[in-house]
Amino acid sequence: MADRAAVTVVGGGVHGCSVAFFLARRGITDVLVLEKEEGLGAGSTTKAAGGIRYQFSTEINIRLSQESIPFLERFEAETGSPFRFHQLGYLLLGTTPADLEEFRRNVRLQQSLGVPVKAVTPDECRQLVPAMNPDGVLGGTFCPKDGYGDPYELVQGFARAARERGVRFETSRTVTGLRVRGGRVAGVETSRGPVESPVVVLCTGAWSGKLGEEIGIDIPIRPFRRDVFVTGSFPAVGHPLPMVIEYATGFYFHSEGDALLFGMADKDEPSTFSTAVRWTWLPRVLERLVHRLPVAADAEVQTAWAGLYEVTPDAHPILGPVPEVEGLFIDAGYSGHGVMHAPAAGKLIAEFIADGEARTLDVSALSIERFRSGADRREQAVF
Ligand SMILES: Cc1cc2nc3c(=O)[nH]c(=O)nc-3n(C[C@H](O)[C@H](O)[C@H](O)COP(=O)(O)OP(=O)(O)OC[C@H]3O[C@@H](n4cnc5c(N)ncnc54)[C@H](O)[C@@H]3O)c2cc1C
Repeated sequence: MADRAAVTVVGGGVHGCSVAFFLARRGITDVLVLEKEEGLGAGSTTKAAGGIRYQFSTEINIRLSQESIPFLERFEAETGSPFRFHQLGYLLLGTTPADLEEFRRNVRLQQSLGVPVKAVTPDECRQLVPAMNPDGVLGGTFCPKDGYGDPYELVQGFARAARERGVRFETSRTVTGLRVRGGRVAGVETSRGPVESPVVVLCTGAWSGKLGEEIGIDIPIRPFRRDVFVTGSFPAVGHPLPMVIEYATGFYFHSEGDALLFGMADKDEPSTFSTAVRWTWLPRVLERLVHRLPVAADAEVQTAWAGLYEVTPDAHPILGPVPEVEGLFIDAGYSGHGVMHAPAAGKLIAEFIADGEARTLDVSALSIERFRSGADRREQAVF
């Protein structure tokens, strides 16, 4: 006998858990979440730096933040589980005239949508982070409503609330195929037998392109490795710090308790599924760290990990139905900023399933069909 569920969610990261939560809240509780790893959140979610921000360059990403961040502010009231949202702001540092030009465009767009962001001078950047060396900083942008938190708390909170409403979660169970009958989804094949289901949602993050190949659907999401480094206790830097990002290099840091979490992408590294820490990359990152925060010359790296960005060609997610297979939905490809948009995405997928369309936001720009029509609206603010 095959398992059955009204909705099968593939992937137990923050998106799968959010989708399950919002479905359950809409009264759709016959939901089965399948996760290939031993624990929920074991993909990219628990590797994330936890950043949460309004500061994007496209209207749709800003609107996803506007749906998500107020929810994160009241996460405990919504789900019954705590989420410590350190709303200390994001400070973006511009070091080239091109950065400042982009900041002007972004701030204009963000303010026109009601985001409390402002342009800041190099002196103001220094006031926000007194330990910072402002050399080369020409200006910045700051939004006090941005911040960071622990993504695992979101996974736990969504999953617990969904479970309480009847959602089932199965870990160590890999989806290996899709059952389709007459152009409609009929279920999934898994490492532990099939599941019959008229609705399937792929929340498979960086593995979506690979799963797409296995089920014969072109899903343009590719994995790229990102390393994160954390110092030991390091009070000299003056905590708590906002999230600080050098726009041109993508180098970033924020407080992690009384330690410092930092990283920088190696944009030249080709796509890979490897999550081994690249210690050979650390000297380049340390060079930026010590330049921007000279006091950090005395800090020691105590912890490091690597995870995968799930990158689409235009750095926007794929959110919505797959037109050629009725009943199949994708919620993936957040290109390195997916933790923060999980609340909006879960709500929107639940609307697609319960109402037949997304009502909260027009997300047609995020349809998988955009890659076929050649639409090109790249998100610039990805690091
Ligand atoms: C170093 C780093 C820093 C980041 N920093 C931030 C940040 O500051 N802010 C932010 O918002 N985002 C950040 N991100 C991005 C963020 O982690 C992702 O966008 C987000 O976690 C995506 O969530 P998800 O649920 O879609 O994917 P995941 O968490 O990867 O979940 C997908 C799940 O699907 C499972 N799966 C895949 N294939 C199958 C299958 N066939 N069967 C069953 N299960 C399957 C995987 O095991 C995985 O658990 C960062 C990422 C990294 C790597």
